[in-house]
Amino acid sequence: MTPAGTESNPLRVAIIGSGPSGFYAAEHLQKQKGLSVEIDMFDRLPTPFGLVRGGVAPDHQKIKSVTKVYDRIASKSSFNFFGNVSFGKDLSYADLHQHYHAVIYAVGAQTDRNLGIPGEELPGSHAATEFVAWYNGHPDFRKRKFDLTQESVAIIGVGNVAMDVARILARSRAELEATDIADYALEALANSSVKNIYVLGRRGPAQAAFTTPEIKELGEMEEADIIIDPADLELDPLSQEYLASGHADQKDVRNVEIMREYAQRPPSGKPKRIYLRFLVSPVELSGEARVESIRVVKNELYRMESGDLRPRPTQEYEDIPAGLVFRSVGYRGVKLPDVPFYEKWGIIPNKAGRVLTDHEDGQIVRGNYVVGWIKRGPSGVIGTNKPDAVETVECLLEDVRSGAVLEPTAPQPESIPAMLSKRGVRFVSYEDWRTLDRLEIERGLAIGRPRLKFSSVSEMLAALEGTRTTDPTAD
Ligand code: NAP
Repeated sequence: MTPAGTESNPLRVAIIGSGPSGFYAAEHLQKQKGLSVEIDMFDRLPTPFGLVRGGVAPDHQKIKSVTKVYDRIASKSSFNFFGNVSFGKDLSYADLHQHYHAVIYAVGAQTDRNLGIPGEELPGSHAATEFVAWYNGHPDFRKRKFDLTQESVAIIGVGNVAMDVARILARSRAELEATDIADYALEALANSSVKNIYVLGRRGPAQAAFTTPEIKELGEMEEADIIIDPADLELDPLSQEYLASGHADQKDVRNVEIMREYAQRPPSGKPKRIYLRFLVSPVELSGEARVESIRVVKNELYRMESGDLRPRPTQEYEDIPAGLVFRSVGYRGVKLPDVPFYEKWGIIPNKAGRVLTDHEDGQIVRGNYVVGWIKRGPSGVIGTNKPDAVETVECLLEDVRSGAVLEPTAPQPESIPAMLSKRGVRFVSYEDWRTLDRLEIERGLAIGRPRLKFSSVSEMLAALEGTRTTDPTAD
């Protein structure tokens, strides 16, 4: 058999997941001169783009235009998309090994991290990731209910997801209508009673995870004032030392400057208020039948041996009223059937993208690779996934050259659609997605919005069949 990657034996690669990291992996494979490659990308949803569709905030339409790059990658003849195909259900680990030289897992981090405090499971306490998926029209979350009759909401964490959630809760109807937010979420949010939004950081303003454009945006809301107690910006000596040190992250320096300006602003009387609080950790959520308040402990910072400033609790407590709580403390990866998983970090164990049997001292699992959040954990912005994917694909290419990839027994491209059809899987091609995309934009245009999303799989499939679903709530 000639080596993989030649005309007579094209390199067959399966990519599981169609978010940014999967597309950047495909792009780097396509860029290789003289390499004959066939890429099949699978997603459990009929729609591609992962968190660009289901995670990026709807009021960040510009960021979503990155999908134009993915469209170009998908338009190459070396690329096939199989949407509505679930790994582990419609397609197994063993199937992939039978059909491909290499498999790249690009499944992201599909769940949230826990706080591990009493009351976390009370009704009214939600993972921010679920709220985000709900307002973005993710089919698995469209039926979630969030009690927006509450006046006070707490968001735990000060990362960019917390910023997104605070903004979306505070947006006016007109602001939301200019976005592609799910129609049911638009109605619910436009009619919400939310007035007070507490965003709670466990460390100080100089350690906030959010980036500068996000904190700037929070100060420019049509219907919400941002409120920061000037006392919260009197920095402790360790933070002062850090900011003055010359090696401080410029983002931290700018963030503090901007927040100092906010702290001086008198509230202008807008109907909603976003209270940004620092050095507080939640210790308990309490309430009779549902969450009514959140108990926080005041923290102080200390320096670890690594130089990192971490929070530790004092004896001072405070109760903050909140009928709705969003825990925004990070995403977490989910184990895939038959694929190694490192529980502690919620990732697939790997070395530079080559999957390992175990996190430490694991053996390389031949032909298996990983990119994106399921490789490195839930950090970075969309662009971070590009060098990340390149690193992995370079390992894959090295393995192709040394013959260390899989030897599929059924490498014929047509065997995949044949196998899926035989199993009764109604897979969705990239052409189908283009149709859905066009329909969504047309539906939006008709009501003066950039896009009106389909949010149920049955609705999407029915639209593709050219018929209307009789029961859009069927899934
Ligand atoms: P993140 O940036 O890691 O922020 C998590 C936040 O939760 C931090 O403030 C963290 O505080 C806090 N936290 C963690 N454990 C906690 C606990 N037990 N109690 C209280 N607070 C706790 O995560 P994310 O906001 O989910 O965002 C994920 C990634 O997506 C990030 O890289 C983010 O930049 C990116 N993202 C980007 C955009 C954008 O570019 N606009 C939008 C959304 C998301 P510590 O810092 O003290 O750990």
